Amino acid sequence: MASPELWEKWSAARVRAAHQAPYLANALLSLTPVLATGPSSGELRRFPADPGWHVYVGTEELARQSVQEVSFWLIHQVTHLLREHARRYPGSTVHPQAEEQRTWNLATDAEINDDLTPLRPSEVTTPSTLGLPDDGTAEQYWHALRTNPPPDRHHRPEPGTPPSPDTAGDCGSGCDGLPRAWDRDDLPALSPTAARLTALDTARRIRERLNAQDDVPAGWRRWADQVLEPAVSWRRHLSAKVRHGLAEAAGRVDYTYRRPSRRAAALPDVVLPSMRRPLPSVTVLIDTSGSITETMLAQALAEVTGILRAVGVGRRLLTVITCDARAYRPQTVTRIPALHLDGGGGTDLRAGFAAALAKRPPPDLIIAITDGRTPWPAHPPRTTRVIVALLDANGQAPGWAETVRLEGAS
Ligand SMILES: [Zn+2]
Repeated sequence: MASPELWEKWSAARVRAAHQAPYLANALLSLTPVLATGPSSGELRRFPADPGWHVYVGTEELARQSVQEVSFWLIHQVTHLLREHARRYPGSTVHPQAEEQRTWNLATDAEINDDLTPLRPSEVTTPSTLGLPDDGTAEQYWHALRTNPPPDRHHRPEPGTPPSPDTAGDCGSGCDGLPRAWDRDDLPALSPTAARLTALDTARRIRERLNAQDDVPAGWRRWADQVLEPAVSWRRHLSAKVRHGLAEAAGRVDYTYRRPSRRAAALPDVVLPSMRRPLPSVTVLIDTSGSITETMLAQALAEVTGILRAVGVGRRLLTVITCDARAYRPQTVTRIPALHLDGGGGTDLRAGFAAALAKRPPPDLIIAITDGRTPWPAHPPRTTRVIVALLDANGQAPGWAETVRLEGAS
């Protein structure tokens, strides 16, 4: 067991990391430290991660390294995960080769570390220690290292010389997706969808800092652009579906033109005829089964309520029903953090649909936010339109619903 002093050191390192790279604060909180007792200390020198966002902590390493060093490795490892280096691994996964794994580790480290200039310990791999230009991608460094293996690099010491801190240990399965002896598959992992939403959140924070004229390393800027493009498309796609659904529900009137115009504001006593028509009512059905995290839900719900607000559907017309195996009490959302996320068991959204449609009159539009791992009603509701916001690319939605996938939308 690690002593309380050591965990305090861990916490201090995480605080320091969040302070050094504030846009990574949320991602750093998504890391789960796991005490690793089996492997030799040297193997855990870099606090290796796995694709489930565990970070493996050896007590000897935690005791030996300074808070600053540990915080560097936390930022380093969360970067491997955010940039999906395991998914991008170009080597053979069928017949893993140690040399390929080592080269990819060098290439990804070079991609990461040139963005960590003021933070990094002097001895870690960078593009310049590999004799390569800055600002490249891991794939470019991999290609360069494969076609022209450096004969004489400090990361390949002469036999007999003690290993430098950078050569000992590796960055774990979070770097190449290939299992390590210390990986704990039995522990709950961050799901790929939750990881994706964490990446989206991080990219948005980077954009915010850039908009505020704050300094963000070039590699992170490019990464945020890449990550946010599909998200922008996803939002646009969902926004279009919701607008269309609302317009249909409101009797094929484009309700966006029914908001008070400047002319109406100038004539406060005049109620424009179109204003008499009620806006459609919307129920957001949220799947709170175990496979979806609260952060994930909050982000998805923020997207949906943002869209609804933008098109004029206020709180009064919006009902939220959370659902796992059963439906919970309908809530009116006044602000996102106030929403109580019940549930956590298996999912049956049919219960949620039944609860939503029990309302009199039934809502004009149901937006279901779910990973799609649920049974669906066999038939569509009679008068209510349904939009499914699918958080998991492998999830299923019924053919009768309009479906927007978080991934793959463009
Ligand atoms: Zn690394």
